[in-house]
Order: sequence, then C-alpha cells, then structure tokens
Amino acid sequence: MPSYGEQPGAGTYECPYCTQRVVIEHDWEVLGECPACEGFVFLSVDDDAEENEGQPVVSQALDAIRSGQGL
Ligand SMILES: [Zn+2]
Repeated sequence: MPSYGEQPGAGTYECPYCTQRVVIEHDWEVLGECPACEGFVFLSVDDDAEENEGQPVVSQALDAIRSGQGL
C-alpha cells in the first residue's frame, strides 16, 4: 500500500479515509499527506476500473488498516 514519503510511481492514489484522490504524474514524485484529512496511506487506483463503484478494495484496505494499525 503506497504511503506518505514513498515514490509509488505515476498514477492515481486514493485516500481510504476520505476518498480524496492524489495524482502522481512522475515516477520521482513523493507521495505526500492526504490534502483533505492528512492521512498517510493511499490505495492505488486503476484508472481503468473507475467505473467499478462497489469499492470492495477500499473496504478491505480499511479493515486492514484498522486491524493492523490500531486505529
Ligand atoms: Zn484523506
């Protein structure tokens, strides 16, 4: 899971807490905090899958975050 301070590569990343999206345009860019909620982990968003509105990946990630990091 891409997180704050990493260079996850070009792509779109979504905050699992507030669904704010951050676009990384260059592989050398460093992923910052979520601009909306200051969250520090993100989900990779496959642009081809944006029409998939069930968002099971997001809820799975939230479960992982809650159980793994004690939030
Ligand atoms: Zn956020």
